[in-house]
Amino acid sequence: MKELRTQVAIVGAGPAGLLLGQLLARDGIDNIVLEHRSREYVERRVRAGVIEFGIANLIEEAGAGERMRRDGLVHHGVEFRFERNSYRVPLSDLADGRAITVYGQQEVVKDLVALRLESGGPLLFDTEVTTLDGLTSDAPSVEGDGPEGPVRVICDYVAGCDGSFGVANRALPASSARRYERTYPFSWLGILAEASPSTEELIYCRHQNGFALYSMRSPTLSRLYLGVAPDERLEDWSDGRIWDELNARLATDEMPEIGQGPIVERGITAMRSIVIAPMRHGRLFLAGDAAHIVPPTGAKGMNLALADVRLLARTLAAALRDHDDSLLATYSSTCLERVWRGEEFSNYMTQMLHPNPSDEFENGVQMARLRQAVNSREAATVLARNYVDLNSL
Ligand SMILES: Cc1cc2nc3c(=O)[nH]c(=O)nc-3n(C[C@H](O)[C@H](O)[C@H](O)COP(=O)(O)OP(=O)(O)OC[C@H]3O[C@@H](n4cnc5c(N)ncnc54)[C@H](O)[C@@H]3O)c2cc1C
Repeated sequence: MKELRTQVAIVGAGPAGLLLGQLLARDGIDNIVLEHRSREYVERRVRAGVIEFGIANLIEEAGAGERMRRDGLVHHGVEFRFERNSYRVPLSDLADGRAITVYGQQEVVKDLVALRLESGGPLLFDTEVTTLDGLTSDAPSVEGDGPEGPVRVICDYVAGCDGSFGVANRALPASSARRYERTYPFSWLGILAEASPSTEELIYCRHQNGFALYSMRSPTLSRLYLGVAPDERLEDWSDGRIWDELNARLATDEMPEIGQGPIVERGITAMRSIVIAPMRHGRLFLAGDAAHIVPPTGAKGMNLALADVRLLARTLAAALRDHDDSLLATYSSTCLERVWRGEEFSNYMTQMLHPNPSDEFENGVQMARLRQAVNSREAATVLARNYVDLNSL
């Protein structure tokens, strides 16, 4: 077995693992990133696309912001639609001038991979980590299978950035770890279409048929979602049916039809909330989806993940470079306070925008909440601040 030595072994090259590697390298901390999938696969994985104000600054400070600043779309507002009417929430006016940047997660990943490879930092693709060992000792290790056979990385700390189905969160002992979970009774059918966006800002829509979201990834790519039943099958949705349903839900008198184009990507995502606590076991520290999942309605998944590693990089640099262990003890509780705020906001947006066909009382409450969000300056301000910069609050 090939044996390597480093200060921090990072499991997973999603946004969390890659940014952590970059932040640590800038602080002079050696690290190795191990990723199950190929470079091509991680760079093509279409997922999140809304970057908070403070998280965009973090990406820039890490040295990975050049393309994001050039090609990202800065949005100062967001639209809500219901009963065929549109209401704009002026995010920047309500959140001290701050704005969101619309830039695809796969582009963030591409920028971070390029930076890593340029700097010569070790990034082992096609290497599935199978075992985490000695997590409560002074010399933990990570074992995996790479293209050239088994590999073992001995380190000072392990960062579990391997998403919700990875190995890291399973290494937490059942006796001390807790898992808080909610599954929602709907899923999202998402498409990526080669169509110029019909609108300049994101549109969140509540319609009696269900939720819809109009978003975009670039001036030529639109990303649209439909709320569907949890057991819905992709093969039952022809292109025509998808566009008809998007039009039925999103139409207003001013915009009776949305622009269409070839669908280049599609998928169905279940809607879940998960929090795993604590986010630490011995020398293993969890970050991102490995520790928490939010339904995408609040656009918080990637932002929460990157905010975790902002703190984790500081925590590990303090311990390894400055011999200051104090942040190690508080990493989990500090993260979890912010994570629960992200869970609350994602839950609020989800419960406000997804009608429940069998619960008229719930639907009445949802409409009251939605009207308040667009008509009350106080409610809109809370929404705007959480949407634009929750992870810096
Ligand atoms: C289908 C889908 C759509 C989404 N849409 C949105 C959205 O619209 N808006 C939003 O805000 N969020 C969205 N999210 C959530 C968002 O994408 C995540 O929160 C974000 O990817 C978290 O980053 P991460 O680095 O923590 O985890 P990931 O991006 O999941 O990265 C984890 C990495 O670890 C690797 N890995 C896993 N197991 C191992 C192993 N054993 N060994 C080595 N490597 C391993 C994986 O291959 C992966 O590259 C979506 C998620 C999914 C699944």
